[in-house]
Amino acid sequence: MLTQNLGYPRIGSRRELKKACENYWAGKIDLKELNQVGKAIKEENWQTQLDAGINLIPCNDFSFYDQVLDMSLLLGVIPERFAPVLTEVKTNTETDLYFAMARGYQQNGLDITALEMTKWFDTNYHYLVPEFTQVQEFRIFSEKPFAEYQQARQYLGNNAKPVLIGPVTYLLLGKEKGSRFERIDLIKKLVPVYVDIINRLKQQGAEWIQIDEPVLALDLSQKEKEAFEYAYKLISNRVNGVNILVATYFDALHDNTSLAVNLPVAALHIDLVRAPQQLNDVLAQLPESLSLSLGVIDGRNIWKNDYKASLELIEKAKAAIGAGRVMIAPSCSLLHSPVDLGLETELDYGLKNWMSFARQKLNEIKELKAIATGTDDQQYLQANQQSIEARKLSTRVHKVAVKQRIAELTEADDKRVSGFANRQQIQQQRFKLPAFPTTTIGSFPQTEDIRQLRAKFKKRELSAADYEKAIEQATIDAIRWQEEIGIDVLVHGEFERNDMVEYFGEQLDGFAFTKNGWVQSYGSRCVKPPVIYGDVLRPRDMTVRWSRFAAAQTDKLMKGMLTGPVTILQWSFVRDDQPREVTANQIALAIRDEVVALEQNGIGIIQIDEPAIREGLPLRKANRAAYLNWAVKAFRISASGVTDETQIHTHMCYSEFNDIIEHIAAMDADVITIETSRSQMELLEAFANFKYPNEIGPGVYDIHSPRVPTTAEMVALLEKAAELLPARNLWVNPDCGLKTRKWPETKVALQNMVAAAQQARQSI
Ligand code: GLN
Ligand code: ZN
Repeated sequence: MLTQNLGYPRIGSRRELKKACENYWAGKIDLKELNQVGKAIKEENWQTQLDAGINLIPCNDFSFYDQVLDMSLLLGVIPERFAPVLTEVKTNTETDLYFAMARGYQQNGLDITALEMTKWFDTNYHYLVPEFTQVQEFRIFSEKPFAEYQQARQYLGNNAKPVLIGPVTYLLLGKEKGSRFERIDLIKKLVPVYVDIINRLKQQGAEWIQIDEPVLALDLSQKEKEAFEYAYKLISNRVNGVNILVATYFDALHDNTSLAVNLPVAALHIDLVRAPQQLNDVLAQLPESLSLSLGVIDGRNIWKNDYKASLELIEKAKAAIGAGRVMIAPSCSLLHSPVDLGLETELDYGLKNWMSFARQKLNEIKELKAIATGTDDQQYLQANQQSIEARKLSTRVHKVAVKQRIAELTEADDKRVSGFANRQQIQQQRFKLPAFPTTTIGSFPQTEDIRQLRAKFKKRELSAADYEKAIEQATIDAIRWQEEIGIDVLVHGEFERNDMVEYFGEQLDGFAFTKNGWVQSYGSRCVKPPVIYGDVLRPRDMTVRWSRFAAAQTDKLMKGMLTGPVTILQWSFVRDDQPREVTANQIALAIRDEVVALEQNGIGIIQIDEPAIREGLPLRKANRAAYLNWAVKAFRISASGVTDETQIHTHMCYSEFNDIIEHIAAMDADVITIETSRSQMELLEAFANFKYPNEIGPGVYDIHSPRVPTTAEMVALLEKAAELLPARNLWVNPDCGLKTRKWPETKVALQNMVAAAQQARQSI
């Protein structure tokens, strides 16, 4: 029985990669120093995996920015616009081309935009989207995987297993430039280059090569399935003497099971954390030539593995195909796990004993193998089951009052008192807003001063009283300024918040925070998600103090600002001992109580941000409706505790609503603000076609760039919007919060925006 790992976090246990890359970009270190940091991280990772006794240890899973970008460079998929970088840059050419593709290139009189970035399946990791043309050619351009294998081999010997993204997944992750072709048709040109790559790695000594094909867990067209058959047949015909392992993850194989198990390769990896039920199916269809890698350790969460549950799966596989054909592995690459729980010196022992980060997960693999092969004298299992039981029974996790409230939820709890038409009338009478009312999404520029305040307060260099005074002043300034330029519904600016999820998590029971639990989000950017470990309870008001303070500074309307339950869930490490839906409902009840508290404190307009609803969509179409139903319900629970007089807003910073518009409408927010300016209102068509009845603020100002939009531009956008939707339902606002902008451009842009609304009132 072999053990293997599919990939290890490459940010370094203390985020060394981030610092090194940012220093290199700033010209503070040279390529040699950058490579030294890379080498040190790789070697530390390899040593950790060697120490854990892992048999097949990944290499080429390291990357200075992104593994998909690495593949693009390897395969020579370099868009034309980057060609000048190759001639302009005289030293470090390949590295600088690489970072130019990742981050854009504005030097030497050139201005080249970066590749587009998008989410890696349903994770919070973002990859750089390959661009293909109809006449796309492929060739080995970069030596990176060969050099990294060479390095790994010196360190790991035969244990080193190079990792590549598979040809079908690579093509499907990209996009066509120009519309007259389908990128999957490039497979015939692409696979021969894979053959060359694999043969070279084999010549260097590789015995196993891992080829990631996570798209096998998606809905595939007939043509895409045929591309799989074509690709792996060609590879198996032209490559000899090396074991190919195809890795799938993030969902079940479902209707692709027969396709996957019949690929002419040596081993298949399946995700048994997301989809344990697929083991039976896969075993039933597994040909004798194929080994099976069981992904039993959760690569996407921070909980200790339940050995008993994993052993059941392992035993089942052993019984069906024999131990020699079974491998034990994490469900997916550990890239999505934080690095080392050992660094969490401030987490209390109770919690820590339930958790496991990448480094600890390797050890779990080792222990599971020891138990499964009978070399453990039961100690591992006993210790493991003790902590699993402790978590199961803990009163820190289970709170009777919370469970009872969830059990008592009724149909009425996720419905407003009246329908929207009635509420709209009541709210119009109450607020007397003009046509095209103006507002913003919540945050104002988080200047260096504000950040400094928070940092100093955290380090206790600033007293609570002084900190609050300073935040109060920033809030007052923002309010005065909004009054001056004539915004209709003001916000307080969110200066007191570090992050829209952390701010709430810190005030709720059932949440814990780590010191070093960083996970790569993209390039040098990492996130540190909160951990939801227990039933969620709101011990006290969370935002009332700041909302009341802000409202008291002005006679104008002041909007309360909250983060919604699905977004809090989506951007945290969640419990694996109850369905996500239940956790969402618990958070929803906490937010609902906050909404009611704001209402009782005189806040008549309350925004519940839900920017993450769409990214929670399951990968398989068949599972989407069920998710959307509970996600929308959680939002409604949070929004429905108030009277008809209270106006509930929601905000989503994206605009692709075509496939989910009925669910968005079912959220029944009185006002929704969305991102539309970059698409010139085109994406508003989903709402128009659906005849969306509630009020809506399609963003007229793209906040992602410092560029200041003109009044005329914004009027034109409003005219377009008014062609698509009833003008009386339209609000005027930016695309998203202004946190990342600077004050100077923000001021001019919002003044122009208010002027645009005034013009629209005259002319539309
Ligand atoms: N209210 C938040 C802000 O303005 C919303 C952020 C978001 O949508 N991501 O910053
Ligand atoms: Zn937003």
